[in-house]
Amino acid sequence: MANNTAMPKPRGTWGHRLGSHLLTVLLAMLVYWLLDMLTYDLNRVSWLMREEIEKRHVRQELVVQVASLRRQIDELARRIASEQEKIKVEEGGFLNIQRTMDQLIQLQRLQLEQKMAVNQGDQQNLNKIVESFRASHATIQQLRQNILDLQDKKTDVEGQLAKLEEELNHQRDYASHEFLKLQRHYQRAVAALQVIGLLALVGFGVRFRQRKPASPYAPVLLGLSLAATAKMVIILREHLPPQIFQYAMLAGLIVIVIRLLVYVVRSLQCPKKELLLRQFREAYEHFLCPVCEYPIRIGPRRFLYWTRYTVKKAPLAAGCVGRADETLSGEEIYTCPVCGTSIFEECPSCHRIRHAKLPFCSHCGAEKSEITTTGP
Ligand SMILES: [Zn+2]
Ligand SMILES: [Zn+2]
Repeated sequence: MANNTAMPKPRGTWGHRLGSHLLTVLLAMLVYWLLDMLTYDLNRVSWLMREEIEKRHVRQELVVQVASLRRQIDELARRIASEQEKIKVEEGGFLNIQRTMDQLIQLQRLQLEQKMAVNQGDQQNLNKIVESFRASHATIQQLRQNILDLQDKKTDVEGQLAKLEEELNHQRDYASHEFLKLQRHYQRAVAALQVIGLLALVGFGVRFRQRKPASPYAPVLLGLSLAATAKMVIILREHLPPQIFQYAMLAGLIVIVIRLLVYVVRSLQCPKKELLLRQFREAYEHFLCPVCEYPIRIGPRRFLYWTRYTVKKAPLAAGCVGRADETLSGEEIYTCPVCGTSIFEECPSCHRIRHAKLPFCSHCGAEKSEITTTGP
């Protein structure tokens, strides 16, 4: 038997078809994930610019000065703490001296009251203690003065630091502002490039599917196109103002609907062979003319009327219920009285009656080279 392009191709089992669809969706999801990661990494590159911009807008000597002042303040705080610690120790000693001195004075007073001679050794001790008392007092005073001096110095350095920090913060704010501006420009440029790339990918996918729908790569490209479309919509939503995004989406949907409409109308006007064959087969099954759907009135149906929807309800003479194919048993050539389409004709090979609009003769299997929509 000769091969015929009108012959329907095997569509595969239900499981195969479902598997193919699921894998296409899975592929689309994986590609979307990949695109998402790529976008994230591309945008992250912009963070590398931050350091560079900060260097350009922030005076580095200012940064050094601020760091040095902070170190000075820490050092001063440490010294103040150390002096305070020394005062504590000194005050402890001072109290002891004071207590001893009080006791000695008390003793001397008692001796004087009892008109006893003051012990020479005790007098010397008292003199020494008084000396220590004075020295300790002077040390404490000195330490307090030191702390006051250190605190003054610290306040002074803190004042300088506050001024420099204010200046530094100002410069950093400016650098930050500049960085955000640049980052926005960079992200927009990346988004524009991505949209162009994704658009090209979608265009290629659609073209490929139109040209080679039977290629094993067609579902792959469908998956890629789906992922690319989803990613493109997300990028546009992120970077376009909401109102413009709505207009863009609406325009895109209108273009898609127009293309689909044109496709549907075109396939109605010049249907593909497979679709045409299905349409003819369904028409024969419903006893209708494959071109104008006028009932095929032959055999027991000669005096009936029906449509696609009432065909199964039309009463038939007993024993004649069946498909249009079975009316072939009537073996008569038939042409549609409305549009003139030949519906049953003589087979050139076996000379019996065959379907004029189906590819093979049901008696001898001879194949018709071409099936047309009109005419005999
Ligand atoms: Zn007709
Ligand atoms: Zn035949």
